[in-house]
Amino acid sequence: MEVSLYSIAIFFCFFIFSVQSSTDSDNPSEIIIRFQQYLQINTAQPNPKYYEAADFIISQAKSLNLGYETLEYVKGKPLVLLKWTGKNQNLPSILLNSHTDVVPVEHHKWKHSPFDANVDQLGNIYARGSQDMKCVGLQYIEAIRRLKSSGFEPIRTVYLSFVPDEEIGGLAGAQSFAESEEFKKLNVGVVVDEGLASPNENYRMFYAERSPWWLVIKATGLPGHGAKLYDNSAMENLLKSIEIVRRFRASQFDLVKAGLKAEGEVISVNMAFLKAGTPTPTGFVMNLQPSEAEAGFDIRIPPTADTTSLERRIYEEWAPSSRNMTFEFQEKTPVYDKFGKPVFTATDSSNPWWALLEGAVKKANGKLGKPEIFAASTDAHYFRDQGLPAIGFSPMANTPILLHEHNEFLNQAEYLKGIEIYESIIKEYTSYIEPTSDAVSREEL
Ligand SMILES: [Zn+2]
Repeated sequence: MEVSLYSIAIFFCFFIFSVQSSTDSDNPSEIIIRFQQYLQINTAQPNPKYYEAADFIISQAKSLNLGYETLEYVKGKPLVLLKWTGKNQNLPSILLNSHTDVVPVEHHKWKHSPFDANVDQLGNIYARGSQDMKCVGLQYIEAIRRLKSSGFEPIRTVYLSFVPDEEIGGLAGAQSFAESEEFKKLNVGVVVDEGLASPNENYRMFYAERSPWWLVIKATGLPGHGAKLYDNSAMENLLKSIEIVRRFRASQFDLVKAGLKAEGEVISVNMAFLKAGTPTPTGFVMNLQPSEAEAGFDIRIPPTADTTSLERRIYEEWAPSSRNMTFEFQEKTPVYDKFGKPVFTATDSSNPWWALLEGAVKKANGKLGKPEIFAASTDAHYFRDQGLPAIGFSPMANTPILLHEHNEFLNQAEYLKGIEIYESIIKEYTSYIEPTSDAVSREEL
């Protein structure tokens, strides 16, 4: 008898435990486990497990009864699109974008294995993608899970896009998607995409980003004996240009150092390569001045910059024909959208989505810093290129910025807090009804 009572008790304990763990999807540990599962899928470029990530996202969608489809603009690179249908499908929809790929890792430089998603004693979850940006992708889903279980019904439709290849330029993902016929049919009104962690208590919101211009300047000149002094050698001409570019770089950097401008507000220039010399099997010919020399620069330009004067500077000072120099761009991302307007999202009253997002964050007890320009590139610019407002936002406060670094982590409490923030944002966005012109004119009266 004793034995069987004992086994019945064990059975009941097991029963209660298993019922709880399968139904209590709001349980923080369940939420963290799902985050770990997503992080454990190795989606590092250049060989991401795209389909594993897609299957995982689709399994989450099924558990929430969300619509889903897979789009493949490039074979082998699936883009998963989820849909939570709103009550009024005539209103423009909301698009929450995230990328499933992550940058590569140097395994031996991590204290925790980058695809184990270990949690340390402080609650920090270590994994590649914990900040950039699997956190955001899954927070969108968790926020919808919470809203659904509370009985909330959106008025506007919400789409979630999980794009495959942001870390290598976004051609198969966000770019093809934003330019597609499918995308037009979604009637998107606003896009939310990634931002950055904030080391202080303020979340960060990004309204634009800098466009990369990859410039190669080349000098040519007469070759000559290494012992002879003469003017207009390729090396001398290139060095003069490098010195001029370096002074420009310093002038921009000084503005940042003095606190007059944020990093995203200046034109940055960094030398990416320097190529010259006449090679030998063991090194370079030392008694010859070469006839060609070139240098490459990674330039990043905010949409507020005067690009005409920068181009003149390049033409007249950095690579002037008077010094036998030429230049070409390996990449020149326009700072204007397809309508010819500078590519940025308005932060004033002309764009209600900005204030709505701010309000939603504050309602969920989050604090915000001032609007920023993203220093690097994200997929958001493909949506801005279409003339759409796109806001960069990743809810990570009190967190060191570790994207693309070793030992990338996010604290689990911060992750959970981010879900509440998105819950508030989705609620505000999907409930928003634009004032009709009638209402506006009544107000004005
Ligand atoms: Zn990212």
